Amino acid sequence: MYNPKSMKAEEFINHEEIIESLAYADENKDNLHLIRQILDKAKERKGLSHREASVLLACEIPEILNEIYDMAQQIKKDFYGNRIVMFAPLYLSNYCINECVYCPYHKQNSNITRKKLTQDEIREQVIALQDMGHKRLAIECGEDPINSPIEYVLESIKTIYSIKHKNGAIRRVNVNIAATTVENYRKLKEAEIGTYILFQETYHKKSYEELHPKGPKHNYNYHTEAMDRAMEGGIDDVGLGVLFGLELYRYEFAGLLMHAEHLEAVHGVGPHTISLPRIKHADDIDPDVFDNSISDEIFEKLCALIRICVPYTGIIISTRESKEVREKIIRLGVSQISGASRTSVGGYEEDQRPHDTEQFDVSDQRSLDEVVRWLMEIGYIPSFCTACYREGRTGDRFMSLCKTGQIQNCCHPNALMTLKEFLEDYASEKTKKVGEKMIESELNNIPKEKVRKICENNLKEIENGKRDFR
Ligand code: SAM
Repeated sequence: MYNPKSMKAEEFINHEEIIESLAYADENKDNLHLIRQILDKAKERKGLSHREASVLLACEIPEILNEIYDMAQQIKKDFYGNRIVMFAPLYLSNYCINECVYCPYHKQNSNITRKKLTQDEIREQVIALQDMGHKRLAIECGEDPINSPIEYVLESIKTIYSIKHKNGAIRRVNVNIAATTVENYRKLKEAEIGTYILFQETYHKKSYEELHPKGPKHNYNYHTEAMDRAMEGGIDDVGLGVLFGLELYRYEFAGLLMHAEHLEAVHGVGPHTISLPRIKHADDIDPDVFDNSISDEIFEKLCALIRICVPYTGIIISTRESKEVREKIIRLGVSQISGASRTSVGGYEEDQRPHDTEQFDVSDQRSLDEVVRWLMEIGYIPSFCTACYREGRTGDRFMSLCKTGQIQNCCHPNALMTLKEFLEDYASEKTKKVGEKMIESELNNIPKEKVRKICENNLKEIENGKRDFR
């Protein structure tokens, strides 16, 4: 049997094992006795292995599917409550020396305008994002050691953290840049990044090599080992992801879970987040090439199963998905969404979305105020909280908070306080009204009376102008 602890990530996430797991899943997809055993194990909320999870993914028995959805909703409620953390991407540069065939930033694409933000332009973008109410960013960058070396990324992070504008400040910068060295990860850690995010794109090595025909990203092993190097460099919050649509989803699902198993076994902590992006139309990309796109129904099933299989990992859905899809999928276990995103390099300060530097089409084009109001109207608390990371509760320290169920006494009041700040500083009258009502009723859901009283006091102080309770 494969041992996640003694093997390198790319050895452990092994083609033969994935193929065997899928065959095992096919053989057992109607085996009610085994499926019941797996569901009973899932109820313990300690997660499932990739083999067990693959059986549930293959199963099409309607009652079992309903049980999976119910369990995912319950786990989400118990571990994450009804909070949804908000963030926005900030594209720094679209210069790229890779040739990823699904990405318009690929080197050969001469249709798009190449652009790299200067530090002054970053300042403008960040102020525009702060003016919407954002506190958490994910910086994105094409891979180009000449145009956007690590020094540029580090300087940009420093710039972002340094900008204090009205009541705004970006409190957490997550980073989505290409796989790099331990030394560079150490520098990112020193620059106080939040999560290091890197999508695997696909766990199918042969497809990976075909989809990334040239450039440093072609090296599957180097890419797949990136999270181990990041953790060696001291980053303990890492975010995994697969770009669904590139390869067959059952294969990717098993690979993704094996990656999580590997991190947990070797580093003692699994992924902080898992992103679920689906391939989107983009410039210079032939939509007919990607025929592995998954339906909304399969997307929902994947999300619910990830919630069950890695209960302590946040799930991220971006504005690649429409309002309708987001509405359905949020209840199945999503914990973070982006809002008012622009995938162009710059453009947050412009009224119209620029398309010439854009990475892909954004389906959910609503403003942050609209997204925040919508979330509250469907029963979720939009949270701008970044407290865990700023208090050093990362990696296994965050996981233990989650595992001991203390999130309701800690994250819930923090969510209410940061929502209150948003309502005071950035919300429209309509959103403020909905928000005030929500805060009033959600205060009752703080279990400890002492904590509730502190939260009530802090909310009053926020009304009187105080910000950033820690
Ligand atoms: N350059 C970094 C790297 O190579 O990992 C990451 C930055 S890239 C801006 C972020 C992600 O966008 C990629 O990892 C990929 O999964 C996703 N992406 C690329 N093309 C896409 C498309 N056409 N539709 C949806 N997502 C796409």
